[in-house]
Amino acid sequence: MQWTDVLATRNSRMKASEIRELLKLLDQPDIISFAGGIPDPALFPTETFAKAFENAMSPEHAATALQYSVSEGYKPLREWIVGEMAKIGVPCDVDNIFITSGSQQALDYLGKLLISPGDTAMVTWPTYLGALGAFNAYEPRYARLDPFSNAEPATLQAEAAASSGGAGKVKFSYLSADFANPTGESLSQAGREAVLDQAEALGIAVIEDAAYQSLRFDGEPVPPIMALDIARNGGIENTRTIYCGSFSKTLAPGLRVGWVCAAKDVIGRLVLMKQAADLHSPTLSQMATNYVARAIFDQHVAKIKSVYSGRRDRMLAALDREMPAGVTFTRPEGGMFIWVTVDEAINCAELLARAVAEQRVAFVPGGAFYADGSRLNSLRLSYSCANDAQIDEGIARIGRLLRA
Ligand code: PMP
Repeated sequence: MQWTDVLATRNSRMKASEIRELLKLLDQPDIISFAGGIPDPALFPTETFAKAFENAMSPEHAATALQYSVSEGYKPLREWIVGEMAKIGVPCDVDNIFITSGSQQALDYLGKLLISPGDTAMVTWPTYLGALGAFNAYEPRYARLDPFSNAEPATLQAEAAASSGGAGKVKFSYLSADFANPTGESLSQAGREAVLDQAEALGIAVIEDAAYQSLRFDGEPVPPIMALDIARNGGIENTRTIYCGSFSKTLAPGLRVGWVCAAKDVIGRLVLMKQAADLHSPTLSQMATNYVARAIFDQHVAKIKSVYSGRRDRMLAALDREMPAGVTFTRPEGGMFIWVTVDEAINCAELLARAVAEQRVAFVPGGAFYADGSRLNSLRLSYSCANDAQIDEGIARIGRLLRA
């Protein structure tokens, strides 16, 4: 069978990332890895989840847990999320909340909802690699989202049309405003307002990826773009923002529970997509998440933040000590990542090969996070799963490599 003869054109954009393939090889005990951007499994609230699953299998709940359910998601969980959204300045009701299988599924659905082949998506340079992966299947072009650029909307639209041979339009801006993956950086309120100004001028949507929003260790919280949009437009039904939340970084990613908060018009369309794709997210996961969130969310998030912030401090201190002159790095106020920029002449994908071979230390080279692959001299470090000794030793090894 010649599969290439029958594949849809979108497959040409769906490639295994070389980095992911390389990182698979790193699961060796003597390698100190700052590569995986995952929560520390030692922090999972396992006991509370055990009670949650037991509760879901009780005579009272088992039929609901095991039966088909509605595409919008498990209502008690959506109600709990409504309460959380209100706390961050997003008043909404249960019909503004749609449960997804992780926020990754939301990115796929939003690509499907908004991108026709040749349309333009505005993304930050760098951006979340998984968002590029999700959107790529819908054959977009990318333009650089810079909240502080003075680019004229007419020019941006003209470029979008020209680059696609006529029909393509700019459709949305996608960003993480809090503790972004990969940089760990957050956008100021002025920056968030500027994203909205630009989106209004272009007549496009804003996808706000809030995967790390609950993990602020210090500094003043900045309202989500969704809250600023609601304040401007007098209510959620008039907004252009689509907020994507996740329980992956706060409770556990294996449950695969995330949500979208948006105007009902958007939610209704996403519900149709879910009906066509997988009917609904697993009810058992949603019930367990609801149980655990109601029992321990705030205290559990406080606990993981104190562990992660200690690791962030340790890694920043090690970087201060070990990095040669000319190397710069971000100082995140939350999340899981630090972004290191080295001399322009250094290709960090090549550096990773040497780091693994010579120093037994790993990170993610930054190039893959650029939609145009343009910049190679940065790398992403994750401190979420490393202990103090690994952080000290691993950063010292990277320092030695860079000095060499
Ligand atoms: N957005 C960002 C910025 C992420 O880093 C991740 C996970 N790495 C996701 C979305 C997807 O997370 P999930 O599907 O587990 O909610």
